[in-house]
This record gives sequence, structure tokens and C-alpha cells, in this order.
Amino acid sequence: MKLFLRTLGFLAAAIPCFGATKVATLHPILADLAQQVGGTNVEVVEILKPGADVHHFEPAPKDLAEMRGAKLLLASGKGMESFLDKLRDSLGAGVKLVEVGAKIPSIPFEEHHHEHAEKDGDEHDHHHHGSEDPHWWHSAENMKRAARVVADELSAIDPANAAAYAAGAKAASKRFGELKSWAQKEIAKVGKKDRLLVTAHGAFGYFCKEYGFEPISLLGIGRSDDASSKHVAETIEEIREHGIKAIFPEDQANPKVLAEIARSTGVKIGEPLIADGTAKVAHTFETMLAHNVRSIVAALAPAPAAK
Ligand SMILES: [Zn+2]
Repeated sequence: MKLFLRTLGFLAAAIPCFGATKVATLHPILADLAQQVGGTNVEVVEILKPGADVHHFEPAPKDLAEMRGAKLLLASGKGMESFLDKLRDSLGAGVKLVEVGAKIPSIPFEEHHHEHAEKDGDEHDHHHHGSEDPHWWHSAENMKRAARVVADELSAIDPANAAAYAAGAKAASKRFGELKSWAQKEIAKVGKKDRLLVTAHGAFGYFCKEYGFEPISLLGIGRSDDASSKHVAETIEEIREHGIKAIFPEDQANPKVLAEIARSTGVKIGEPLIADGTAKVAHTFETMLAHNVRSIVAALAPAPAAK
């Protein structure tokens, strides 16, 4: 059996040992994190699965049935899951609901455009409602914090394996640090003055903060509102002023306004970015970051000089 596990590599981590702690998750990135931290001591059940829409998900009776027997339920928090209060009432005793994001410092949504709005005295501005940005898992530093939160919660439930959880969190954090270094090296190819990230919805605040970009999003934080013509005009102005080369749709959002902006400014439309971390092809921090960094660098970095 040992040899079999070793051969399968990372897949082996998905085979829980007897008596494993059942952990239910409300985000695929949290499922991957719980697996990395918990290893064979946990059995992870993904309630919100890859491909689902984090902003419009509501647990159905079958999801509640799947949670049965879980000791821990991991949510993103920071307001991402508007259904948590309701869910809390239907959860059995014995399961602890943890909003992992609660222990991670928040950044307010789109400060940059907020300033514009105040200056112009425009009170109708649904892009800047001043709420906290729930997309914290775009930052490697936040992922390290999250790994510690998960290890602490698992250790409280299953103290006998506390050392294994601490080691799991340490290994995951090391990996997140390596990914951050890789991302920084890649992003260094994009000039500092070209680091304006125009995306469909407001999902990239933490990414932008970590890698020195300024975020501009056409839709709001929850992807459900429309871009005002004033906001579109401002964005076009910024793109022209900074000579920005590309703007980005997302795997779950490609509003018409992006094509309109491309037409009037001549910018290219980059590869769709993975905004909510639930793309079927990339729903771990590692695969999401790799995809996004490669797409952003490909579109915004100057073409290598021909030899
Ligand atoms: Zn989002």
C-alpha cells in the first residue's frame, strides 16, 4: 500500500485514512487547501464544486445531506456567502462553521475609483459601495494565513494529529511562497507604469495589491450590476492616459462593455482570467495563479526584442 501511495503522488493525499476528519468546503480553493493541510487525516467533501458560481450559490437540501458527519465547514467569508446565517440554523450540532477569510485582513473594494466618485459628487455609484472585497484567495500571503487557520481548526477537532496539521500548513505555506516568487519574477516583465489591470468584475484587488497593479473593474464586486456610462468613460480615459495594451474578460464574465472599450481604444482583449477560482480547468490557488499570471504577462509585457 505504501508503494502504491508514493507512486500516485498527490492523488494519494485524496485517499483518507480510517477515522479521517470530514471537512466540507464552500470553495474549491478551500477544498484543495484543506487537503494540503490535512493530508490523509481528512476527508474533504466539496459542497461548492469546480464550475459553480460563488456569487450566486445557495446550498440545496442535497448539499446539506452531503455535509452530514462533517466536523468542519470551511467558507470563504468576508460576505461571499450571503446564506451563512440561514445555513448555520440548519447545521447539526457537531459541525463548526469557519469563515476562513475572517482572520485575513480586508481591503476595501476599489478605492481608486471611489476617489473619482467623491470628487465628482456622484452618489449613484454602485461600483464603489465600500464593502470589503471577498476574493482574498488571490494572494499568496493570504493563502499562508488561511493554511494556519485551517491547521488550527483541524488541531482543535483532532488534537492527536496536531503536529501533522502544523507540518501540512508549513509545507503548503512554503509552496505558496514559491508560487509568489515565481509570480513576482514573471510580473517583473510588465513595466511598473503598465500595471493597470482592467477586468470584468471586481475580483482582483488582493492580486493587484500583492503584485503592484492598480485594479479597474467594469462590473461590481458581485458581478451582478452593470457598468455605468460614466464609469466606462473614466476607464477609457485611464486606458488612454496610461497607454494600457490589454483588458481582460473572465471565465465566468465577458460583458459587452469590454468589446466596446476595445473598439474605442484599440486595446486587445486578453485571455479570460480566472476570477472566482472555480474554473473547471483551474480551481486551486496554484493553477489559478499560474493561469492568471501567464495571461496577464502575455498581454501586458512588451514583446521580446527580435534577435
Ligand atoms: Zn467574484
